[in-house]
Amino acid sequence: MNTQLAELPPDWPAPEQLGFGRVLAPLALCSDHHADTGWSPLRVQPLAQAQAPVACGGLQYGLSVFEGLKAYRDGHGRAQLFRPLEHAARLRASAARLAMPAPDTALFLAACRLAVRVHEAFLPPPGRGSLYLRPTVLADEQGLGFRQARSHRLVLVVTPASDPALKTVNLWAEPELSRAAAGGVGAAKTGGNYAAGLLGLIRAREQGCDDVAWLDAHTHSQLAEAGTMNLFVQIDGRWHTPPLDGTILAGITRDSLMQLLHTAGQPVREHALNLAKLAELQRAGRLGAAIGCGTASRILRIASIRGPGTALRFEDEGGVEALNRRLKAVQENSAAERADWRVAVDAIG
Ligand SMILES: *Cc1c(COP(=O)(O)O)cnc(C)c1O
Repeated sequence: MNTQLAELPPDWPAPEQLGFGRVLAPLALCSDHHADTGWSPLRVQPLAQAQAPVACGGLQYGLSVFEGLKAYRDGHGRAQLFRPLEHAARLRASAARLAMPAPDTALFLAACRLAVRVHEAFLPPPGRGSLYLRPTVLADEQGLGFRQARSHRLVLVVTPASDPALKTVNLWAEPELSRAAAGGVGAAKTGGNYAAGLLGLIRAREQGCDDVAWLDAHTHSQLAEAGTMNLFVQIDGRWHTPPLDGTILAGITRDSLMQLLHTAGQPVREHALNLAKLAELQRAGRLGAAIGCGTASRILRIASIRGPGTALRFEDEGGVEALNRRLKAVQENSAAERADWRVAVDAIG
C-alpha cells in the first residue's frame, strides 16, 4: 500500500481561511467492491485520479451514500476522530436503505485512519479547525439498466476546515416543496436528499434567509430539519427536537447534544414541533433559543424562522454559546467528558 504523506503546499491557507469544503486535500482513499469478491485493499490515489464513470448508477440514479466526520488535533498533538463508530454504523444503515454494500467498521476505520495519516500536515493545530472526512459509497458499474450494481466503490475525500464560528442564521419555512416523506430516503445520508432540497435553499435565499427549515411533507405544519442540520427549540428553558420518524437524518451532533444535555440534568424532549403551537408559545413569552446542529457547522444560532403565516423569533440568553463550547471541548479532547466518543487515530489497529 502506498502510504506516502502529502506535503502541505507553501501557499496553503491558514486554518481560519479554510472555511468549509472549499479546499480539498490532495489524496483520496479508495476500495472497490465486487459482488463476488467483496472489498479490495485500500489504496491511496491523487484526488484527480479518483474518477467515476459517467454511465454508472451512482451518477445516473443517485445510488450513493456518504458520511461526514471530523478529525481534530488535541492538546497533545494527537489526531482524534469524533464518534467514528457511529458514523460507520450510519453509513451501513444508509447503504442498506439503497440496497448497496457498505464497508464494515474495520474497513471504515482503516480508511479514516489512513486518510488522516497521509494528510497529517493538513490537520490544523488544536482548537483551530479539523480535517473533515467524506467517505462515499457509490454504484460504479457501467450500464444504464436500473438495477442493483455488481460493482461499487468506497472513496474517501478530505477537506481541511476552519473551526466553525457560532453563526446566527434566519430560516425559511418552505411552504410547498418537501425534502422527504414517510417511507422515502430522508433518514439516509444520500445525495438524493440534497438534490431534493437545492431549489428550497435557493428560494430561502431569495427570501433573504440563510437556509431552509423543512416541514413535514404531509401537512407542512411541523418542523423537520434544515437539510444539513438538525433543529432544536427551547421552550420554557428546556430543549425540544423533532423525533426520528424516518424523514429526518439521525444527526450524530444531535445525539451528542442530547446526551450532553441529559448528563447536565436537562433532558431533551423529542416530539413534533408544530409551527402554530410554537407561535402560540411565542405569544405567551415561552420561546427561548433555537439552534441547528451538524458536523460541518457544529452549532448555529437560529434568530428566526419565517414563511407565509410564520414569524417565529428566538432569543438566546447565553445558553447556546455555553453549549457550543462544551461540545467543542468534548470533540477536541480538551474536556475529559465522554472519552468514549473519541478514537485516537494512532490507536486504530
Ligand atoms: C449529515 C446531516 C445532518 C447532520 O448530521 P451529523 O451527524 O450531526 O453531521 C443533518 N441533516 C442531514 C440531511 C444530513 O445529511
